[in-house]
Amino acid sequence: MRFVRFNHDGKTGYGVLEGEGVVPIFTQPWSRVIPTGPVIPLEQVTLLAPCEPSKIIALGKNYGAHAAEFGSEVPTSPIIFLKPPTAVIGPGAAIVCPPSSQNVHHEAELAVVIGRRARSLRPEDAAAYIWGYTCGNDVTARDLQRLDQQWTRSKSFDTFCPLGPWVDTAFDPRDAGIICRVNGEVRQNARTADMVFGVSTLLAFISEIMTLEPGDVILTGTPAGVGPLLPGDTVEVEIEGLGVLANPVVAPDSP
Ligand code: MG
Repeated sequence: MRFVRFNHDGKTGYGVLEGEGVVPIFTQPWSRVIPTGPVIPLEQVTLLAPCEPSKIIALGKNYGAHAAEFGSEVPTSPIIFLKPPTAVIGPGAAIVCPPSSQNVHHEAELAVVIGRRARSLRPEDAAAYIWGYTCGNDVTARDLQRLDQQWTRSKSFDTFCPLGPWVDTAFDPRDAGIICRVNGEVRQNARTADMVFGVSTLLAFISEIMTLEPGDVILTGTPAGVGPLLPGDTVEVEIEGLGVLANPVVAPDSP
């Protein structure tokens, strides 16, 4: 199933994608799904980020070729950092380049969305705690990341966490193509099989540190080929079998 969050007639809610429409649901989509129809045509809704995370846990250097492009070794255990929920935007919403950065980068990533409260999971139990998957973009102010020597400021600006367009509960994360295009030009092109640490390992590692709540997001790291975004660009993250997340990029003073 594919779940969306959407706005229709001033109301926000979750729904199930059905053909060219959305069937609203009033239950929490990761628990019990009760469609409350009728179908609303897609062109009448605005899609929002498909989940409302209490936190976003992101991975550093989880693809060997990306670690190499920064002159780093592949890590021996996962390197994690947090992005704030206020950074989340949905498909089609604008990424705003902040005035304090001159070098905003795209980072295409597979996003895991949690469906059950999870604490100290074993890798073999992790799948039961996953609601589904969506596309993510770990937008990063690369100049500030280098300047600060740590990542909080550079990863946390409002609009720096596009997610969407939907949560797919049947997606298989083990070996899917992951592509980033800017204005149609391919910038990143890899496979999720190239991840250093796979999804189950990551859930076990992270849930030993912090309790994961339904809707929380794990961004599983970006492949090689990160590069600049400029106002006027459109950036797309496409994951094979999952969908395309597209966002325009704007200057800070844009309306
Ligand atoms: Mg990243």
